[in-house]
Amino acid sequence: MSYSISIERTSALKQKPDFSQLGFGKYFTDHMFIVEYDDGEGWHDARIVPYQPISLDPAAKVFHYGQTVFEGMKAYKDAEGKVALFRPFKNLQRLNRSNDRLSIPAIDEGLALEALKQLVTIDESWIPTEEGTSLYIRPFVISTQAALGVSPSEKYLFMIIMSPVGAYYREGINPVSIYVEPQYVRAVPGGVGNAKTGGNYASGLKAQEEASDKGYSQVLWLDGVHRKYIEEVGSMNVFFKLADKVVTPALSGSILDGVTRDSVIQLLKYWNIEVEERAISIDELVEAYRNGTLEEAFGTGTAAVISPVGELNWQGERLILNGGQTGPLAAKLYGFVTGVQRGAVEDPFGWLLKL
Ligand SMILES: *Cc1c(COP(=O)(O)O)cnc(C)c1O
Repeated sequence: MSYSISIERTSALKQKPDFSQLGFGKYFTDHMFIVEYDDGEGWHDARIVPYQPISLDPAAKVFHYGQTVFEGMKAYKDAEGKVALFRPFKNLQRLNRSNDRLSIPAIDEGLALEALKQLVTIDESWIPTEEGTSLYIRPFVISTQAALGVSPSEKYLFMIIMSPVGAYYREGINPVSIYVEPQYVRAVPGGVGNAKTGGNYASGLKAQEEASDKGYSQVLWLDGVHRKYIEEVGSMNVFFKLADKVVTPALSGSILDGVTRDSVIQLLKYWNIEVEERAISIDELVEAYRNGTLEEAFGTGTAAVISPVGELNWQGERLILNGGQTGPLAAKLYGFVTGVQRGAVEDPFGWLLKL
């Protein structure tokens, strides 16, 4: 199957930022992808155009009812200048699972992949190569029908924008401290916690702000029913090393099915490290901390890849993990996954899609 994507190149290339001072999500490349949906017509007019603002009617449904989804993935350039995407099929499958949950029509994954390849190729000079940097790719869908009244939109836009990025956290691969949230919850079974949709993040801002005021960079969410079982961190899944095994919350329906989570589980199994996906209560972690078996904790996500946790604050008790330093397992995982991404380590799982 071949897809037709029209291309309008910019006549004024942007000045590129200093690639050693990128931060996260501050700069955008020269082009973007856009395709429209109308009921009866399906997705149409796929095009790559110069990066630019879009114009929407103030009644566009996305502004009022939050019918929107997004993805986050990365492209890398290896030492020979070859470009690769990291596990893009997983992201596109998840995009359609999120679409389904939000009553948004499915997007042809073949078209989306072709769009990704062409867009990344056109803006290839925006892929930074410094250690810890990459080209972050943000596909997203918004509902655009101009009509008030709660019902699925009859019109949508699917767009892809891209941003050269450095470390997600100011700390880089250094440990973050995390506040275990006792009061607010992120998601409940049957809700939209397993969809990558804007409302999940808007509803978490308040807790994050309060944690930040207390000196913590992220919130660790507990389950919304018992407020007892570990869910995930802001935009990361979470893992704990308990003596000789690693545990991570099972995909219960209220957490996101992370691509990095899946990659880490694959890798741990490949290294013959026992990994369990199951319910983990905060009490179990506190107990393990007290008896010295909670050795490490780390978050996983596309943006930060592996983010070691140096401290967990649970109801005022400060659990300092691995002396507040990056643990050996987190460091090894970070080295391997980012090594594969940069083409510096052999890719035993076929994670990279070379362009
Ligand atoms: C994106 C995200 C993750 C991480 O998923 P990856 O596919 O590994 O990037 C975890 N939790 C939430 C809530 C997220 O939005």
